[in-house]
Parts: sequence; C-alpha cells; structure tokens
Amino acid sequence: MEIKSAEFIKGIKGTDEILKEKRPHIAFVGRSNVGKSSVINSLVGKKELVKSSSVPGKTREINFFLINDEFYFVDLPGYGFAKIKQKQREKLRKLILWYLLDEELLQIKRKIVLIVDFKVGPSNFDLEMLQLLQENNLNFVILANKADKVNKGKRLNQQKKIEEKIGKNILIYSAKTKEGKEELISKLI
Ligand code: GDP
Repeated sequence: MEIKSAEFIKGIKGTDEILKEKRPHIAFVGRSNVGKSSVINSLVGKKELVKSSSVPGKTREINFFLINDEFYFVDLPGYGFAKIKQKQREKLRKLILWYLLDEELLQIKRKIVLIVDFKVGPSNFDLEMLQLLQENNLNFVILANKADKVNKGKRLNQQKKIEEKIGKNILIYSAKTKEGKEELISKLI
C-alpha cells in the first residue's frame, strides 16, 4: 500500500458532518512532543502536512487529513503537557475522550495509534490512555517513536521493558529515519 495523496481537510472541536462519512479513520494519539506530527508527516512523505507546533499542547482541535481519497488520518491533540492551564487541559482531555468514546464515533471503522517514546518508555499519562483503550475495546496499536535515540545494542532490552509495562507488543519506529514505516503502514491499512 502506498500513500499517494494527503490533504488537510479541517479541524473540529465537536460533532461535525465529517463524522457522518463512511470513510475509515486512523487516529493518532500521544503525549505532547512525542513526535506525533513527525510520525504523520513521515508516513505521508510530506515535511509539513502536519505543522509541528513549536509550543507543545497548542493544537486544540482534532485535525482531519484525507489520504488517497479513501480514509482519514486523524490527529488528536497531544495530552500531558504541564504548562497549559488546568482549565484548558481539562477541555483537551474532554475533546480526546469524546473522540474516542462517543457513540456516533464508535460506529466508524477506526484504528488508533498510541504513540509513546521508545527511549523514555510509557509515561503515566500513556498508561492511563492505554487503560482507556483497553477497557473500551478500541482497536489500537502502540508505536514507540524516536527509536533512533537508542543504540542498536540496547534496543531489545528497552523493547522488552516497554512491552512488560504495556502488556502488548509494540511497533518500533523512528519518524527521523523512517525505520518501521513499511511495517506500520501494513498494520494500519
Ligand atoms: P508532537 O508534539 O507530538 O506533534 O511532536 P513533534 O512531531 O512536533 O516532535 C517533537 C520533537 O521531537 C521535535 O523536535 C522533533 O524533531 C522530534 N522528533 C520527532 N520524531 C522523532 C524521531 O523519530 N527521532 C528523533 N530523534 N526526534 C524526533
């Protein structure tokens, strides 16, 4: 499968016509700064389809990108950024939960990609998100990004550590080197 076209359609903050479409979603979720924008850009082969914000936690909408005219990549706001105000953080949390759990959205064919940092391992926020995905039987994969930051010799150990914490296999990825890209695309599409 090749990604031939990718186009930004819109950002939403609540229910919207786009959710009435039958097109499947592949949704990306993760802590701010984990490299979510970079992962999406690396998949579509465009440097700036998703503008990676210099201020983490700034993306406050759910952004839709149409891929190959067939399905959407859905970029959820990053969570866990400490420096935004409590009220704003609560709003973002609600928006993410709405997207993941709303009845209307559960009708859509959807796969969720939870991105964690391969070097740092899963944060408490990541583990909370994981629990939510599991408890609600959502269809998801775990992508461990920034693998290029860990020496090849230490990879296997780090992978085992993360998989033990998470209780599930992870996909090892680097948005920087594009390691893992083919595997991820084949898992998603
Ligand atoms: P977002 O906030 O999750 O969308 O994160 P960004 O995509 O903006 O990335 C945050 C920072 O991590 C940026 O400085 C990126 O260059 C860097 N980054 C993202 N992916 C990788 C990766 O695979 N390897 C390395 N070394 N850095 C990365």
